[in-house]
Amino acid sequence: MEHRLALVGVEPSSIDAIVVTHHHGDHSKSASKASKKWNARLYSNLETCIRMGLEPISEVRTFEGLERLHISENLSLLPVSVPHDDADNVAIIASNGEGKRAAIVTDLGEPTIELMKHLSGCEHISIEANYDLNRLISSPYPPSLKKRITGRGGHLSNVQAADILAEVLHPNLKSIVLCHLSEKNNAPHLAESEVLHQIGDNFQGVLSISRQEGPDFSNLLGQSDLEQIKSTI
Ligand SMILES: [Zn+2]
Ligand SMILES: [Zn+2]
Repeated sequence: MEHRLALVGVEPSSIDAIVVTHHHGDHSKSASKASKKWNARLYSNLETCIRMGLEPISEVRTFEGLERLHISENLSLLPVSVPHDDADNVAIIASNGEGKRAAIVTDLGEPTIELMKHLSGCEHISIEANYDLNRLISSPYPPSLKKRITGRGGHLSNVQAADILAEVLHPNLKSIVLCHLSEKNNAPHLAESEVLHQIGDNFQGVLSISRQEGPDFSNLLGQSDLEQIKSTI
């Protein structure tokens, strides 16, 4: 984690809060350790707190869905529940209090009306494009796993991510980061081409792909300021 933070120039000691979206290991591992080491307050909803084996109140500041968390004077976070497996997962909408908002949306089988409402108007959207449907279908994964991934509690495909982006697209959408790409069932060029196919003509911002192994980006469209994107996620 410290290595990943160093890649985007963030000092661990400067972190005030760690928000865990759900208990799955790729989102919660080391969160408790990091919060103690860096003296950063840990936030999650009650289900996630319990599933991480932590104590509410003493170890985790728990929140409800749609409860606005005031992290600092100019940063609040809105957790929005999304369907994902047996987890009580949330997307996060960050706001600076002056009308600028950014979203981080991963690990959901499909969007909800509530989520679409909150994504509309965001200037920056980081969203999962987990799998390419053809690659998943032809993969050696067992049928039960394929069904889980494509189901309501699974992950967003490239097409689903592109559909969501096309629906919430507005002239002030400055950047999109496609993230949580499956290494086996997706590839950056597949995710990119699907999204461009849907929004290319109307999107004036920067589209980037976040690699699985850390916050390293392929910047595939619009060669404007990559640093600007890195600083917003
Ligand atoms: Zn998950
Ligand atoms: Zn995940």
